[in-house]
Amino acid sequence: MKPLTIKMNDQDNVAIVANPGGLPAGTPLTNGLVLKDAVPQGHKVALTDLPAKSAVVRYGIPIGFAMKDIPAGSWVHERLLEMPTARELDNLPIATVKPPPQSALEGYTFEGYRNADGSVGTRNILAITTTVQCVSGVVDYAVQRIKNELLPKYPQVDDVVGLEHTYGCGVAIDAEGAEIPIRTLRNISLNPNFGGEVMVVSLGCEKLPPERLMPPGTIPITDQRGDAQQLDVVCLQDDAHVGFLSMIDAILATAEQHLQRLNARRRVTVPASELVVGVQCGGSDAFSGVTANPAVGYCTDLLVRAGASVMFSEVTEVRDGIDQLTSRATSPEVAQAMIREMAWYDAYLQRGKVDRSANTTPGNKKGGLSNIVEKAMGSIIKSGTSPISGVLSPGDKLKQKGLIYAATPASDFICGTLQLAAGMNLHVFTTGRGTPYGLAQVPVIKVATRSDLARRWHDLMDVNAGTIADGDKTIEEVGWELFHLMLDVASGRKKTYAEQWKLHNALALFNPAPVT
Ligand code: CA
Repeated sequence: MKPLTIKMNDQDNVAIVANPGGLPAGTPLTNGLVLKDAVPQGHKVALTDLPAKSAVVRYGIPIGFAMKDIPAGSWVHERLLEMPTARELDNLPIATVKPPPQSALEGYTFEGYRNADGSVGTRNILAITTTVQCVSGVVDYAVQRIKNELLPKYPQVDDVVGLEHTYGCGVAIDAEGAEIPIRTLRNISLNPNFGGEVMVVSLGCEKLPPERLMPPGTIPITDQRGDAQQLDVVCLQDDAHVGFLSMIDAILATAEQHLQRLNARRRVTVPASELVVGVQCGGSDAFSGVTANPAVGYCTDLLVRAGASVMFSEVTEVRDGIDQLTSRATSPEVAQAMIREMAWYDAYLQRGKVDRSANTTPGNKKGGLSNIVEKAMGSIIKSGTSPISGVLSPGDKLKQKGLIYAATPASDFICGTLQLAAGMNLHVFTTGRGTPYGLAQVPVIKVATRSDLARRWHDLMDVNAGTIADGDKTIEEVGWELFHLMLDVASGRKKTYAEQWKLHNALALFNPAPVT
Protein backbone atom coordinates (compact mmCIF):
# COMPACT_ATOMS: atom_id res chain seq x y z
CA MET A 1 0.00 0.00 0.00
CA LYS A 2 1.20 3.49 -0.86
CA PRO A 3 2.31 5.35 2.29
CA LEU A 4 -0.05 8.25 2.95
CA THR A 5 0.75 11.09 5.35
CA ILE A 6 -1.27 14.27 5.98
CA LYS A 7 0.20 17.63 6.91
CA MET A 8 -2.27 20.36 7.86
CA ASN A 9 -0.21 23.54 7.54
CA ASP A 10 2.95 24.59 5.69
CA GLN A 11 4.64 25.34 9.01
CA ASP A 12 3.99 21.87 10.45
CA ASN A 13 7.02 19.75 11.33
CA VAL A 14 4.90 16.63 11.89
CA ALA A 15 2.37 14.84 9.70
CA ILE A 16 -0.04 12.03 10.54
CA VAL A 17 0.00 8.57 8.98
CA ALA A 18 -3.32 7.95 7.19
CA ASN A 19 -2.90 4.29 6.15
CA PRO A 20 -5.24 1.86 7.93
CA GLY A 21 -3.15 -0.18 10.38
CA GLY A 22 -0.35 2.40 10.28
CA LEU A 23 3.06 1.95 8.64
CA PRO A 24 6.00 -0.30 9.65
CA ALA A 25 9.50 0.95 10.49
CA GLY A 26 11.67 1.24 7.39
CA THR A 27 8.82 2.47 5.16
CA PRO A 28 10.06 5.13 2.73
CA LEU A 29 7.67 8.09 2.59
CA THR A 30 6.99 10.01 -0.61
CA ASN A 31 9.23 12.89 0.52
CA GLY A 32 12.21 10.51 0.79
CA LEU A 33 12.06 10.23 4.58
CA VAL A 34 12.31 6.68 5.98
CA LEU A 35 10.28 5.77 9.09
CA LYS A 36 12.53 5.02 12.09
CA ASP A 37 9.64 3.53 14.08
CA ALA A 38 6.37 1.81 13.29
CA VAL A 39 3.74 4.56 13.35
CA PRO A 40 0.08 3.64 14.06
CA GLN A 41 -2.73 5.11 11.95
CA GLY A 42 -3.54 8.67 12.96
CA HIS A 43 -0.25 9.12 14.79
CA LYS A 44 2.42 11.67 14.05
CA VAL A 45 5.78 11.26 12.32
CA ALA A 46 8.58 13.85 12.70
CA LEU A 47 9.26 15.43 9.29
CA THR A 48 12.50 17.05 10.48
CA ASP A 49 14.91 16.51 13.37
CA LEU A 50 13.19 17.97 16.45
CA PRO A 51 15.79 18.99 19.06
CA ALA A 52 14.88 18.74 22.77
CA LYS A 53 12.66 21.65 23.95
CA SER A 54 11.79 22.66 20.36
CA ALA A 55 8.19 23.23 19.33
CA VAL A 56 6.28 20.40 17.68
CA VAL A 57 4.02 22.19 15.21
CA ARG A 58 0.69 20.92 13.84
CA TYR A 59 -2.13 23.09 12.44
CA GLY A 60 0.56 25.80 12.31
CA ILE A 61 0.78 26.11 16.10
CA PRO A 62 2.94 24.47 18.80
CA ILE A 63 0.96 21.50 20.12
CA GLY A 64 3.86 20.61 22.45
CA PHE A 65 7.59 20.76 23.12
CA ALA A 66 9.97 17.85 22.51
CA MET A 67 11.12 16.34 25.82
CA LYS A 68 14.26 14.95 24.13
CA ASP A 69 15.85 14.96 20.68
CA ILE A 70 13.44 13.37 18.19
CA PRO A 71 15.12 12.39 14.88
CA ALA A 72 13.25 12.85 11.61
CA GLY A 73 11.15 9.79 10.77
CA SER A 74 10.38 8.98 14.43
CA TRP A 75 6.94 8.32 15.90
CA VAL A 76 5.99 11.47 17.87
CA HIS A 77 3.67 10.21 20.63
CA GLU A 78 2.28 11.92 23.71
CA ARG A 79 5.03 10.66 26.03
CA LEU A 80 7.59 12.67 24.04
CA LEU A 81 5.68 15.94 24.30
CA GLU A 82 5.40 18.54 27.01
CA MET A 83 2.07 20.34 26.78
CA PRO A 84 2.10 24.14 26.34
CA THR A 85 0.42 26.18 29.06
CA ALA A 86 -2.99 27.64 28.25
CA ARG A 87 -3.12 31.08 26.66
CA GLU A 88 -3.80 33.82 29.22
CA LEU A 89 -7.16 35.51 28.85
CA ASP A 90 -5.76 39.04 28.70
CA ASN A 91 -4.25 40.89 25.75
CA LEU A 92 -6.16 38.75 23.27
CA PRO A 93 -6.73 39.97 19.71
CA ILE A 94 -10.24 41.42 19.70
CA ALA A 95 -12.33 41.39 16.50
CA THR A 96 -9.15 41.87 14.42
CA VAL A 97 -9.98 39.44 11.62
CA LYS A 98 -12.52 40.71 9.13
CA PRO A 99 -13.24 37.70 6.90
CA PRO A 100 -14.21 38.81 3.39
CA PRO A 101 -18.01 38.84 3.17
CA GLN A 102 -19.28 35.60 1.64
CA SER A 103 -22.04 35.63 -0.92
CA ALA A 104 -25.49 34.72 0.42
CA LEU A 105 -26.71 31.22 -0.41
CA GLU A 106 -30.28 31.62 -1.56
CA GLY A 107 -33.02 29.28 -2.67
CA TYR A 108 -32.37 26.40 -0.24
CA THR A 109 -35.43 25.28 1.69
CA PHE A 110 -36.72 22.46 3.85
CA GLU A 111 -40.12 21.27 5.01
CA GLY A 112 -40.61 22.13 8.67
CA TYR A 113 -43.23 22.79 11.33
CA ARG A 114 -43.71 26.53 11.84
CA ASN A 115 -44.39 27.40 15.50
CA ALA A 116 -46.39 30.25 17.05
CA ASP A 117 -43.20 31.86 18.37
CA GLY A 118 -41.69 31.92 14.85
CA SER A 119 -39.32 28.99 15.39
CA VAL A 120 -39.42 25.92 13.14
CA GLY A 121 -39.43 22.28 14.17
CA THR A 122 -37.87 19.45 12.17
CA ARG A 123 -39.91 16.83 14.03
CA ASN A 124 -43.37 16.83 15.62
CA ILE A 125 -42.91 15.42 19.11
CA LEU A 126 -44.96 15.47 22.31
CA ALA A 127 -42.56 16.18 25.18
CA ILE A 128 -43.55 15.62 28.79
CA THR A 129 -41.63 17.94 31.09
CA THR A 130 -40.76 16.67 34.57
CA THR A 131 -39.91 18.82 37.56
CA VAL A 132 -38.06 16.16 39.53
CA GLN A 133 -36.43 12.77 39.13
CA CYS A 134 -38.96 11.13 41.51
CA VAL A 135 -41.60 11.06 38.76
CA SER A 136 -39.37 9.43 36.10
CA GLY A 137 -40.58 5.85 36.58
CA VAL A 138 -44.22 6.93 36.39
CA VAL A 139 -43.57 9.06 33.30
CA ASP A 140 -41.70 6.18 31.64
CA TYR A 141 -44.68 3.94 32.21
CA ALA A 142 -47.09 6.58 30.92
CA VAL A 143 -44.96 7.22 27.81
CA GLN A 144 -45.07 3.51 26.93
CA ARG A 145 -48.86 3.51 27.31
CA ILE A 146 -49.17 6.68 25.19
CA LYS A 147 -46.99 5.13 22.47
CA ASN A 148 -49.02 1.93 22.42
CA GLU A 149 -52.54 3.28 22.90
CA LEU A 150 -52.69 6.90 21.75
CA LEU A 151 -49.97 7.54 19.20
CA PRO A 152 -51.47 5.27 16.51
CA LYS A 153 -54.52 7.59 16.51
CA TYR A 154 -52.33 10.64 15.75
CA PRO A 155 -50.25 9.73 12.70
CA GLN A 156 -48.83 13.24 12.22
CA VAL A 157 -47.04 13.03 15.58
CA ASP A 158 -43.57 11.47 15.35
CA ASP A 159 -42.97 10.46 18.94
CA VAL A 160 -43.62 10.97 22.65
CA VAL A 161 -40.66 11.77 24.87
CA GLY A 162 -40.38 12.09 28.66
CA LEU A 163 -37.93 14.88 29.54
CA GLU A 164 -36.43 13.02 32.48
CA HIS A 165 -33.42 14.18 34.48
CA THR A 166 -31.74 13.96 37.88
CA TYR A 167 -32.51 17.51 39.05
CA GLY A 168 -35.39 19.11 40.94
CA CYS A 169 -34.83 18.11 44.57
CA GLY A 170 -31.94 17.18 46.85
CA VAL A 171 -30.11 20.16 45.39
CA ALA A 172 -29.11 23.59 46.70
CA ILE A 173 -31.75 25.27 44.57
CA ASP A 174 -30.73 28.84 45.40
CA ALA A 175 -26.97 28.28 45.13
CA GLU A 176 -24.84 30.14 42.62
CA GLY A 177 -24.99 28.16 39.39
CA ALA A 178 -28.38 26.52 40.12
CA GLU A 179 -29.96 28.81 37.53
CA ILE A 180 -28.15 26.81 34.83
CA PRO A 181 -29.99 23.46 35.22
CA ILE A 182 -33.28 25.26 35.88
CA ARG A 183 -33.18 27.40 32.74
CA THR A 184 -31.88 24.40 30.76
CA LEU A 185 -34.98 22.38 31.67
CA ARG A 186 -37.26 25.34 30.98
CA ASN A 187 -35.75 26.04 27.57
CA ILE A 188 -35.66 22.37 26.54
CA SER A 189 -39.44 22.27 27.11
CA LEU A 190 -39.68 25.11 24.59
CA ASN A 191 -37.55 23.40 21.91
CA PRO A 192 -39.06 24.01 18.45
CA ASN A 193 -39.59 20.26 17.90
CA PHE A 194 -42.26 20.22 20.64
CA GLY A 195 -44.59 22.78 19.03
CA GLY A 196 -45.16 24.84 22.18
CA GLU A 197 -47.29 22.04 23.66
CA VAL A 198 -45.87 22.04 27.16
CA MET A 199 -47.22 19.61 29.76
CA VAL A 200 -45.60 18.98 33.11
CA VAL A 201 -45.59 16.04 35.52
CA SER A 202 -44.70 17.06 39.06
CA LEU A 203 -44.43 15.16 42.35
CA GLY A 204 -45.73 17.86 44.69
CA CYS A 205 -43.11 18.29 47.42
CA GLU A 206 -40.03 19.02 45.26
CA LYS A 207 -37.81 22.08 45.46
CA LEU A 208 -38.43 22.91 41.81
CA PRO A 209 -42.23 23.31 41.59
CA PRO A 210 -43.87 23.75 38.16
CA GLU A 211 -44.44 27.50 38.66
CA ARG A 212 -40.73 28.03 39.29
CA LEU A 213 -39.71 25.86 36.34
CA MET A 214 -42.19 27.48 33.93
CA PRO A 215 -43.25 30.90 35.34
CA PRO A 216 -46.35 32.56 33.84
CA GLY A 217 -45.58 34.00 30.41
CA THR A 218 -42.86 31.46 29.60
CA ILE A 219 -44.93 29.52 27.10
CA PRO A 220 -45.61 31.38 23.86
CA ILE A 221 -49.22 32.08 22.94
CA THR A 222 -50.40 29.60 20.32
CA ASP A 223 -52.71 30.33 17.42
CA GLN A 224 -54.99 27.47 18.30
CA ARG A 225 -55.97 28.70 21.74
CA GLY A 226 -55.65 32.40 21.28
CA ASP A 227 -54.74 33.25 24.88
CA ALA A 228 -51.80 32.81 27.17
CA GLN A 229 -51.45 29.14 27.98
CA GLN A 230 -52.23 27.86 31.42
CA LEU A 231 -49.52 25.49 32.53
CA ASP A 232 -50.84 21.94 32.17
CA VAL A 233 -49.66 20.05 35.26
CA VAL A 234 -50.32 16.55 36.51
CA CYS A 235 -49.24 16.45 40.19
CA LEU A 236 -48.81 12.90 41.49
CA GLN A 237 -49.41 13.84 45.15
CA ASP A 238 -52.77 15.46 44.40
CA ASP A 239 -55.51 14.16 46.68
CA ALA A 240 -57.52 13.34 43.58
CA HIS A 241 -55.20 10.46 42.73
CA VAL A 242 -56.16 7.18 44.34
CA GLY A 243 -53.75 4.53 43.16
CA PHE A 244 -51.04 4.46 40.53
CA LEU A 245 -53.38 3.97 37.58
CA SER A 246 -55.25 7.15 38.48
CA MET A 247 -51.98 9.06 37.89
CA ILE A 248 -51.45 7.28 34.59
CA ASP A 249 -55.03 8.04 33.49
CA ALA A 250 -54.49 11.74 34.26
CA ILE A 251 -51.22 11.86 32.28
CA LEU A 252 -52.83 10.06 29.32
CA ALA A 253 -55.86 12.38 29.33
CA THR A 254 -53.65 15.48 29.39
CA ALA A 255 -51.33 14.05 26.74
CA GLU A 256 -54.26 13.38 24.43
CA GLN A 257 -55.27 17.06 24.35
CA HIS A 258 -51.74 18.00 23.28
CA LEU A 259 -51.56 15.15 20.77
CA GLN A 260 -54.75 16.43 19.11
CA ARG A 261 -53.22 19.86 18.55
CA LEU A 262 -49.83 18.45 17.46
CA ASN A 263 -51.60 16.15 15.02
CA ALA A 264 -53.13 19.15 13.26
CA ARG A 265 -49.68 20.54 12.37
CA ARG A 266 -48.39 20.18 8.82
CA ARG A 267 -44.96 20.68 7.33
CA VAL A 268 -44.57 23.83 5.26
CA THR A 269 -41.72 24.97 3.02
CA VAL A 270 -39.38 27.25 4.96
CA PRO A 271 -36.00 28.76 4.06
CA ALA A 272 -32.83 26.99 5.17
CA SER A 273 -32.25 29.99 7.45
CA GLU A 274 -34.68 28.36 9.90
CA LEU A 275 -32.17 25.64 10.70
CA VAL A 276 -30.66 25.86 14.18
CA VAL A 277 -27.76 23.43 14.02
CA GLY A 278 -25.68 22.29 16.97
CA VAL A 279 -22.31 20.78 16.03
CA GLN A 280 -20.14 18.73 18.35
CA CYS A 281 -17.68 15.84 18.34
CA GLY A 282 -17.12 12.83 20.57
CA GLY A 283 -14.69 9.92 20.53
CA SER A 284 -12.25 12.06 18.52
CA ASP A 285 -9.07 10.87 16.85
CA ALA A 286 -6.33 12.52 14.82
CA PHE A 287 -8.56 12.31 11.72
CA SER A 288 -11.31 14.37 13.37
CA GLY A 289 -9.39 17.53 12.60
CA VAL A 290 -8.41 16.33 9.10
CA THR A 291 -11.64 15.00 7.63
CA ALA A 292 -14.96 15.20 9.52
CA ASN A 293 -14.48 18.47 11.41
CA PRO A 294 -13.15 20.44 8.39
CA ALA A 295 -16.11 19.11 6.32
CA VAL A 296 -18.49 20.20 9.10
CA GLY A 297 -16.68 23.56 9.18
CA TYR A 298 -17.20 23.97 5.44
CA CYS A 299 -20.90 23.10 5.94
CA THR A 300 -21.05 25.60 8.85
CA ASP A 301 -19.96 28.32 6.43
CA LEU A 302 -22.64 27.18 3.94
CA LEU A 303 -25.30 27.34 6.66
CA VAL A 304 -24.18 30.80 7.77
CA ARG A 305 -24.30 31.95 4.14
CA ALA A 306 -27.86 30.55 3.95
CA GLY A 307 -28.79 32.69 6.97
CA ALA A 308 -29.11 29.79 9.44
CA SER A 309 -27.92 29.55 13.04
CA VAL A 310 -24.98 27.28 13.87
CA MET A 311 -23.73 26.66 17.39
CA PHE A 312 -20.31 25.28 18.22
CA SER A 313 -19.49 24.53 21.84
CA GLU A 314 -17.23 22.42 24.08
CA VAL A 315 -15.25 24.92 26.18
CA THR A 316 -12.23 22.71 26.92
CA GLU A 317 -11.88 21.92 23.21
CA VAL A 318 -11.68 25.54 22.11
CA ARG A 319 -9.86 27.01 25.14
CA ASP A 320 -6.46 26.61 23.48
CA GLY A 321 -7.72 28.42 20.39
CA ILE A 322 -9.28 31.37 22.24
CA ASP A 323 -7.16 33.87 20.29
CA GLN A 324 -8.55 32.50 16.99
CA LEU A 325 -12.07 32.96 18.32
CA THR A 326 -11.79 36.43 19.85
CA SER A 327 -10.13 37.66 16.66
CA ARG A 328 -13.08 36.35 14.60
CA ALA A 329 -15.71 38.04 16.81
CA THR A 330 -17.92 40.53 14.99
CA SER A 331 -17.62 43.04 17.85
CA PRO A 332 -15.61 43.65 21.04
CA GLU A 333 -18.74 42.77 23.05
CA VAL A 334 -18.89 39.30 21.46
CA ALA A 335 -15.16 38.76 22.11
CA GLN A 336 -15.55 39.87 25.74
CA ALA A 337 -18.50 37.51 26.21
CA MET A 338 -16.31 34.62 24.98
CA ILE A 339 -13.53 35.59 27.36
CA ARG A 340 -16.05 35.80 30.21
CA GLU A 341 -17.32 32.26 29.47
CA MET A 342 -13.74 30.88 29.29
CA ALA A 343 -12.75 32.60 32.55
CA TRP A 344 -15.85 31.21 34.27
CA TYR A 345 -14.94 27.71 33.05
CA ASP A 346 -11.26 28.05 34.02
CA ALA A 347 -12.44 28.88 37.57
CA TYR A 348 -14.94 25.99 37.52
CA LEU A 349 -12.16 23.51 36.59
CA GLN A 350 -9.84 25.11 39.13
CA ARG A 351 -12.32 24.27 41.91
CA GLY A 352 -11.63 20.60 41.09
CA LYS A 353 -7.88 21.34 40.86
CA VAL A 354 -7.73 20.35 37.18
CA ASP A 355 -7.45 22.26 33.93
CA ARG A 356 -8.57 21.81 30.32
CA SER A 357 -6.10 18.92 29.91
CA ALA A 358 -8.49 16.72 31.97
CA ASN A 359 -10.53 16.52 28.74
CA THR A 360 -8.55 13.95 26.72
CA THR A 361 -9.46 10.24 26.91
CA PRO A 362 -7.36 7.06 26.52
CA GLY A 363 -9.14 6.57 23.16
CA ASN A 364 -8.19 10.06 21.96
CA LYS A 365 -4.52 9.23 22.68
CA LYS A 366 -4.74 5.81 21.06
CA GLY A 367 -6.23 7.58 18.04
CA GLY A 368 -3.15 9.78 17.79
CA LEU A 369 -4.15 12.91 19.72
CA SER A 370 -1.25 13.69 22.05
CA ASN A 371 -2.95 16.29 24.22
CA ILE A 372 -5.80 18.79 24.51
CA VAL A 373 -3.99 21.41 22.41
CA GLU A 374 -3.85 19.07 19.42
CA LYS A 375 -7.44 17.92 20.08
CA ALA A 376 -8.67 21.52 20.35
CA MET A 377 -7.07 22.58 17.06
CA GLY A 378 -8.92 19.74 15.34
CA SER A 379 -12.18 20.48 17.17
CA ILE A 380 -12.34 24.22 16.57
CA ILE A 381 -12.34 23.65 12.78
CA LYS A 382 -16.03 22.70 13.07
CA SER A 383 -16.72 26.42 13.41
CA GLY A 384 -15.57 27.09 9.84
CA THR A 385 -14.27 30.53 8.92
CA SER A 386 -17.33 32.76 9.36
CA PRO A 387 -17.35 35.67 11.80
CA ILE A 388 -18.64 34.76 15.28
CA SER A 389 -21.71 36.88 15.87
CA GLY A 390 -22.93 35.78 19.30
CA VAL A 391 -22.22 33.96 22.56
CA LEU A 392 -24.64 31.91 24.64
CA SER A 393 -24.25 31.00 28.32
CA PRO A 394 -25.06 27.40 29.35
CA GLY A 395 -28.82 26.74 29.27
CA ASP A 396 -29.75 30.00 27.52
CA LYS A 397 -32.05 30.13 24.52
CA LEU A 398 -30.67 31.29 21.19
CA LYS A 399 -32.35 34.38 19.74
CA GLN A 400 -30.14 35.24 16.76
CA LYS A 401 -28.84 33.90 13.45
CA GLY A 402 -25.28 33.31 12.32
CA LEU A 403 -22.34 31.52 13.93
CA ILE A 404 -22.72 31.33 17.69
CA TYR A 405 -20.35 30.16 20.38
CA ALA A 406 -22.62 28.31 22.83
CA ALA A 407 -20.51 27.74 25.95
CA THR A 408 -20.98 24.15 27.15
CA PRO A 409 -18.82 21.41 28.61
CA ALA A 410 -17.40 19.00 26.02
CA SER A 411 -19.26 16.03 27.57
CA ASP A 412 -21.32 14.72 24.66
CA PHE A 413 -24.53 14.42 26.66
CA ILE A 414 -24.27 17.71 28.53
CA CYS A 415 -23.31 19.55 25.35
CA GLY A 416 -26.24 17.99 23.45
CA THR A 417 -28.64 18.79 26.30
CA LEU A 418 -27.53 22.43 26.42
CA GLN A 419 -27.74 22.79 22.63
CA LEU A 420 -31.30 21.39 22.86
CA ALA A 421 -32.11 24.09 25.41
CA ALA A 422 -30.67 26.68 23.04
CA GLY A 423 -33.31 25.63 20.50
CA MET A 424 -31.31 23.30 18.24
CA ASN A 425 -33.53 21.60 15.64
CA LEU A 426 -30.75 19.55 13.99
CA HIS A 427 -27.60 18.03 15.49
CA VAL A 428 -24.35 17.08 13.75
CA PHE A 429 -21.93 14.82 15.59
CA THR A 430 -18.49 13.74 14.36
CA THR A 431 -16.65 10.73 15.69
CA GLY A 432 -13.35 8.96 14.98
CA ARG A 433 -13.21 6.20 17.58
CA GLY A 434 -16.97 5.62 17.10
CA THR A 435 -19.92 6.32 19.37
CA PRO A 436 -23.58 5.31 18.87
CA TYR A 437 -24.75 8.69 20.31
CA GLY A 438 -28.34 9.76 19.68
CA LEU A 439 -31.04 12.01 21.15
CA ALA A 440 -34.79 11.39 21.21
CA GLN A 441 -35.64 15.09 20.88
CA VAL A 442 -33.83 16.00 17.66
CA PRO A 443 -32.31 14.17 14.65
CA VAL A 444 -28.58 13.50 15.07
CA ILE A 445 -26.48 13.18 11.89
CA LYS A 446 -23.29 11.27 12.67
CA VAL A 447 -20.15 11.77 10.60
CA ALA A 448 -17.29 9.25 10.66
CA THR A 449 -13.72 10.55 10.40
CA ARG A 450 -12.30 7.32 8.88
CA SER A 451 -13.51 4.95 6.16
CA ASP A 452 -12.61 1.98 8.35
CA LEU A 453 -15.09 3.13 11.01
CA ALA A 454 -17.71 3.97 8.36
CA ARG A 455 -17.34 0.44 6.94
CA ARG A 456 -17.59 -1.36 10.27
CA TRP A 457 -20.39 0.88 11.57
CA HIS A 458 -22.15 1.10 8.21
CA ASP A 459 -25.59 1.23 9.84
CA LEU A 460 -24.69 3.81 12.50
CA MET A 461 -22.69 6.44 10.60
CA ASP A 462 -24.70 8.73 8.30
CA VAL A 463 -21.76 10.33 6.47
CA ASN A 464 -18.26 9.01 5.77
CA ALA A 465 -15.77 11.88 5.82
CA GLY A 466 -12.95 9.31 5.70
CA THR A 467 -13.21 9.58 1.91
CA ILE A 468 -11.25 12.84 2.32
CA ALA A 469 -8.22 11.05 3.82
CA ASP A 470 -8.57 8.30 1.19
CA GLY A 471 -8.24 10.96 -1.52
CA ASP A 472 -11.64 10.08 -2.99
CA LYS A 473 -13.50 13.26 -2.05
CA THR A 474 -12.63 16.83 -1.12
CA ILE A 475 -13.56 18.64 2.08
CA GLU A 476 -15.87 20.82 -0.03
CA GLU A 477 -17.64 17.79 -1.55
CA VAL A 478 -18.31 16.19 1.84
CA GLY A 479 -19.39 19.61 3.21
CA TRP A 480 -22.00 19.95 0.46
CA GLU A 481 -23.09 16.32 0.91
CA LEU A 482 -23.71 17.08 4.58
CA PHE A 483 -25.57 20.31 3.75
CA HIS A 484 -27.98 18.49 1.40
CA LEU A 485 -28.43 15.63 3.87
CA MET A 486 -29.33 18.18 6.56
CA LEU A 487 -32.14 19.59 4.41
CA ASP A 488 -33.44 16.05 3.74
CA VAL A 489 -33.28 15.04 7.40
CA ALA A 490 -34.80 18.33 8.58
CA SER A 491 -37.69 17.77 6.13
CA GLY A 492 -38.33 14.26 7.44
CA ARG A 493 -37.55 12.83 3.98
CA LYS A 494 -34.65 10.92 5.50
CA LYS A 495 -34.15 9.47 8.93
CA THR A 496 -30.77 9.26 10.61
CA TYR A 497 -29.47 5.89 11.78
CA ALA A 498 -29.93 6.99 15.40
CA GLU A 499 -33.61 7.63 14.60
CA GLN A 500 -33.98 4.38 12.68
CA TRP A 501 -32.68 2.31 15.60
CA LYS A 502 -34.17 4.65 18.25
CA LEU A 503 -30.78 5.16 19.91
CA HIS A 504 -31.44 7.74 22.58
CA ASN A 505 -29.05 8.92 25.22
CA ALA A 506 -30.55 10.38 28.39
CA LEU A 507 -30.54 14.12 28.97
CA ALA A 508 -27.63 15.21 31.16
CA LEU A 509 -28.01 18.53 32.96
CA PHE A 510 -25.04 20.74 33.71
CA ASN A 511 -25.32 21.52 37.42
CA PRO A 512 -22.25 23.37 38.71
CA ALA A 513 -24.03 24.00 42.07
CA PRO A 514 -23.89 21.71 45.13
CA VAL A 515 -26.33 18.90 45.82
CA THR A 516 -27.60 18.39 49.35
CA1 CA B 1 -18.29 16.30 22.83
